Amino acid sequence: MTPAKIDALKTELTKEIDKQQKFSQEMVDMIFSFGELGFQEVETSKYLTDILKKNGFTIEMGIAGIPTAWTAKWGSGKPLIAVGSDIDCIPKASQKPGVAYHDPIIEGAPGHGEGHNSGQPLNVTAVLALKKIMEREKIPGTIMLWPGVAEEQLATKAYFVRDGYFKNVDACIFTHVGSNLGTSYGDGGMVGMISVQYKFEGQASHAGGAPWRGKSALDAVELMNIGWNYHREHMEPTQRSHYVVTDGGDQPNVVPSKASVWYYFRERSYPKIMQMYKDGIRIAEAAAKMTETKMTYEVLGSAWPGHMNQPMAEAMYENIKMVGLPKWSEADQTLAKALQKEMQSPTEPGKGFEGLSTSLSQLRKPAATPSAGGGGSDDIADISWNLPTIVLGYPSNIPGLPGHHWANAIAMATPIAHKGVTAGAKAEALTLLDLFVKPEILKNAWTYFNDVQTKDTKYTPLISKTDKPAIQLNKKIMEEFRPEMKKYYYDPSKYATYLEQLGIKYPTVRDEKTSGVGK
Ligand SMILES: [Zn+2]
Repeated sequence: MTPAKIDALKTELTKEIDKQQKFSQEMVDMIFSFGELGFQEVETSKYLTDILKKNGFTIEMGIAGIPTAWTAKWGSGKPLIAVGSDIDCIPKASQKPGVAYHDPIIEGAPGHGEGHNSGQPLNVTAVLALKKIMEREKIPGTIMLWPGVAEEQLATKAYFVRDGYFKNVDACIFTHVGSNLGTSYGDGGMVGMISVQYKFEGQASHAGGAPWRGKSALDAVELMNIGWNYHREHMEPTQRSHYVVTDGGDQPNVVPSKASVWYYFRERSYPKIMQMYKDGIRIAEAAAKMTETKMTYEVLGSAWPGHMNQPMAEAMYENIKMVGLPKWSEADQTLAKALQKEMQSPTEPGKGFEGLSTSLSQLRKPAATPSAGGGGSDDIADISWNLPTIVLGYPSNIPGLPGHHWANAIAMATPIAHKGVTAGAKAEALTLLDLFVKPEILKNAWTYFNDVQTKDTKYTPLISKTDKPAIQLNKKIMEEFRPEMKKYYYDPSKYATYLEQLGIKYPTVRDEKTSGVGK
């Protein structure tokens, strides 16, 4: 295909995606209203696969033994390109969109306080626009859409790899919400992780009448935490570890016969993560010994530290420059600035409350000092160590926010999210077209993957052959909140937007003269 022809198709794709803005907005708002936690993304997966099925995709549900996971394939022959994004939300992050202070739709309910409601709408928009062109131009190749289920638990992508769903895939483009349009390559300095739950079992007794007959599982949890917290002093500063007590007993007058604690262990390399995993087991065993309780443990999730593909990222960045950032309205900027002020979250450290990004980010290169450590993990990394992979960040959220927080949900069903998705869909569709019509990009991508990325580092899964996806997670929380949340599912047949359905004036910001501090 000539460069002129490719340029013409790119212009056509961009126009088509602009025409689909209403469709993208509906998907973003709909998934926002579902607000489903990891492994419980039942409505979200049904909604997305129904759309894809209607558009000629072949669906395989329940992949890797995970009920809410799927693949949707369309096309024929090679190359096979995977397109993914996460779909789960955050506990206690329920929040009215477009309102620049804490105002939950349902108090205590889950909500999209990470913005995972926007990535699949972006992918679906991009892929359907591209499909029209591939059909007409008879461009060979196959597209496979897939969801990051339970990304917050880093709990599925290693299983997709282990169970062979990426075996014949030539490349993967993943999308993740951010506050700018951009991508990166190499080692971005992120940490990998293994997540382990330890369960202790002792003996109940009357805590007042016969405490000497009890063996407290809660004591074991506390002693394990004390042991780990002393151990911290002697660990390298690149580590991050944190825990929650998932079961601390029932009531004070019963010596807890059962208790459990859930840890995330994060480090910069596979051997260091495995060392933390072994240290955790050793300390848990010691706590069990001290308290004469029994200890069992279960791996609930894992992720490698990521490494993204350079030739693909460079190809993507050329398209990002063509697309550029969305045009923000005054209302968008008012909401963004008011929220940054409310949260005392400057746009960047040391800057003011400057609102939404107005200058495009640079192509992010490998971190100069990757040992700086810290930060989050993303199990897309497990895909990235098995085939050339990049992550497209798109500007559907407000810069500077804390993350995993109700504040990060505020933009996610507003014009900010919608415009960010449209921009991201263009960058993705243009890059997918490049991958299908310019075989040299894939060739270079594999050369980088084989000769640079995996030259000295080989992928060994953090999960074992017998570990199973923790599909029971979040079941109870969703059972508690879903009946009430159903009343707020978005109905696009009656309302143009979710903001309209909820009766929210956009933007809603504090009236500084009349209102007090905090809500
Ligand atoms: Zn995420």
